[in-house]
Amino acid sequence: MTGSTAASFTADDYRARMERAARTAAEAGLAGLLVAPGPDLVWLTGYTPPAVTERLTLLVLAAGQDPVLVVPALEAPDARKAAGAPALTLRDWTDGKDPYAATAALLDASGRFGISDNAWALHLLALRKAMPGSSYASLTEALPMLRAVKDAAELDLMAAAGAAADATFEEIRNVRFSGRRESEVAADLDRHLRRHGHETVDFTIVASGPNGADPHHEAGDRVIERGDMVVLDFGGLRDGYGSDTSRTVHVGEPTDEERRVHDIVRQAQEAGFRAVRPGAACQDVDRAARAVIAGAGYGEHFIHRTGHGIGVTTHEPPYMIEGEEQPLVPGMCFSVEPGIYLPGQFGVRIEDIVTVTEDGGRRLNTTARELVIVE
Ligand code: ZN
Ligand code: ZN
Ligand code: ZN
Repeated sequence: MTGSTAASFTADDYRARMERAARTAAEAGLAGLLVAPGPDLVWLTGYTPPAVTERLTLLVLAAGQDPVLVVPALEAPDARKAAGAPALTLRDWTDGKDPYAATAALLDASGRFGISDNAWALHLLALRKAMPGSSYASLTEALPMLRAVKDAAELDLMAAAGAAADATFEEIRNVRFSGRRESEVAADLDRHLRRHGHETVDFTIVASGPNGADPHHEAGDRVIERGDMVVLDFGGLRDGYGSDTSRTVHVGEPTDEERRVHDIVRQAQEAGFRAVRPGAACQDVDRAARAVIAGAGYGEHFIHRTGHGIGVTTHEPPYMIEGEEQPLVPGMCFSVEPGIYLPGQFGVRIEDIVTVTEDGGRRLNTTARELVIVE
């Protein structure tokens, strides 16, 4: 995923994101944000280092200061090519110098900072040593909604990723399932996602028969048989933005029970989607979907939250879960993916990515949610 979003956004876009992040951090009582290579850095600057090593690369954001990227001298030429580079001051450092002291010199040494979840402990410990009065919070915990609301250009990329996942499903529903291993169908999913423009594939779940009752089953050696329910759940990044969709198909004619359970999940997914509107709480989406499944007597078999945010990663805040009171805001993107898991028998999950609009929600996945029969 090297710099794939660079073409879509300008230095002004990145400048606006960095300003907003610094302002939001100050409002949250933080003296600044320290952003290591990873999804936050890509979103804020468009920069992905050629490799992540023990050499410190760190974006330093503090309200009222120009953004600074501390970067190893040998990587500075790469950093200068990032789309957000014109909005940054590069502070390069050479081997033998102390990049932590240089970073500390930019900051209020007794401040509390938000630091990327994926920053190496090595760097955090050295920063603490350079600034003994400093303290730290996980960036995701301190500013969970930083990347949650997408702008128009981001929504276009999210929609394109969703359409590519849908095109993948349209092809996969026509491949042969019976007599093939789950891993072979998973390889088909991977190939189609890439052919439809994905640069990374994060997951290709093919969970047949009893394997479908385990939401974490990926794809294994099991040979798919006639009569199997098969949970398909696949996605990744296309032009730097995520896709993630699930459909459950049946090989040959389903039983009445299989049809009924699938229909309950379909109705739950519809209810979750209908609950999406500005001002509703995240937990309202979970409650709406869960009420349908509980009402049908399967409450104990819906064993995960209803959804998760998605953007430059395929799993991020906000989470559609009981207790999450965060209000929905136009531009947020997240999954609505209820399921029923019957141990030893089968599972059903149906998942769309949904974005909040001014008056409701819009699905970014639109393939058939009725039970699809495959061969
Ligand atoms: Zn069956
Ligand atoms: Zn999924
Ligand atoms: Zn998902």
